[in-house]
Amino acid sequence: MSILVYIEQAEGKVKKTSLEAVTFANALAEQTGEGDIVAVALGTIGNEELAAIGKAGAAKVLHGADSKLDSGVIQAHASAVAQAFNFIGAKTLVLAKSSLGDAVAARLAIKLNAGLVSNVVELPKTDSGYIVKRSIYTGKAFAETTVTTENKILAIKKNAIDLKQEGADAQVESFDVALDDADFASKITSTERATGDVLLPEADIVVSGGRGLKGPENWGMVEEMAKILGAATACSKPVSDLGWRGHHEHVGQTGIKVAPTLYIAIGISGAIQHLAGVNSSKCIVVINKDPDAPFFKAADYGIVGDAFEVVPKLNEALKAEL
Ligand code: FAD
Repeated sequence: MSILVYIEQAEGKVKKTSLEAVTFANALAEQTGEGDIVAVALGTIGNEELAAIGKAGAAKVLHGADSKLDSGVIQAHASAVAQAFNFIGAKTLVLAKSSLGDAVAARLAIKLNAGLVSNVVELPKTDSGYIVKRSIYTGKAFAETTVTTENKILAIKKNAIDLKQEGADAQVESFDVALDDADFASKITSTERATGDVLLPEADIVVSGGRGLKGPENWGMVEEMAKILGAATACSKPVSDLGWRGHHEHVGQTGIKVAPTLYIAIGISGAIQHLAGVNSSKCIVVINKDPDAPFFKAADYGIVGDAFEVVPKLNEALKAEL
């Protein structure tokens, strides 16, 4: 019996969060004796990219190469993953918690009659029963859920597990997915790339600006820092409400939730609603002229100072270093 991992891709690149799901599945298999890890990847992805999933711990990758699956149509992906699950006779599906992952997992829970736990932060306790710890209330608390169904689906929170990349290449097999019109009942008619080279939800580093930056004309230094670091830019809600930046950059409770390795907050107070979208970041650096700004309580590193002095100096230092 194997554990199946659903792999998400963007423009042919496997998402890091999916590799984290593979690492998680591998550790889970060691604990439960569920055997090898099989990954299922859908749409147009190169063979080398697929084989590299093995480094995170997958023995085999089933590739449903139909280009109609490129766009992440939810119903079609759920059908394809259900077919892979039944094909290998899995009892457990692991995937990354994401907007696509959540939508696919919900449908799979019905199709596979499986118990689904989302936002999982650590390996389940399996000594007596199957108890899964998950993050709730935007990371402020944890809940334990007992799964009683034979089939189980675990959606893993980003950054919950350290990605391991030490395995060998996986064996890649093509996988024929049977799809019908009902699988494409909803259609993505067009997609538009947000500005910037790095997509915010996937970014490993995020440089974010708040109302402390006074106006859109001052974002040059934020963009410069993002460029030096290969980061995505983001902003607080008032900044996008004021039209200084586009809404696609707004992070927080009512915006995009990010969990980068490094989140740099410039001139942002650190209101609870902002923190709700960024507090899963591995390392938070805050630049604020007010030493009592609430964001400093959530920061790993803080710089008390005027952003208009600190950021240009930091950019010069980063340019010299990188
Ligand atoms: P401010 O609160 O105005 O803070 C500006 C900061 O910049 C201050 O800390 C100040 O000390 C500092 N500063 C000023 N000048 C400088 C300088 N020269 N150099 C350095 N620092 C300087 N907010 C979000 O961000 N995301 C959300 O998703 C979100 N959802 C919300 C949902 C609800 C239901 C509600 C009620 C609110 C929500 N908010 C959200 C708004 C949130 O409560 C705050 O009002 C908002 O985050 C504040 O944005 P800010 O920190 O950019 O601005």
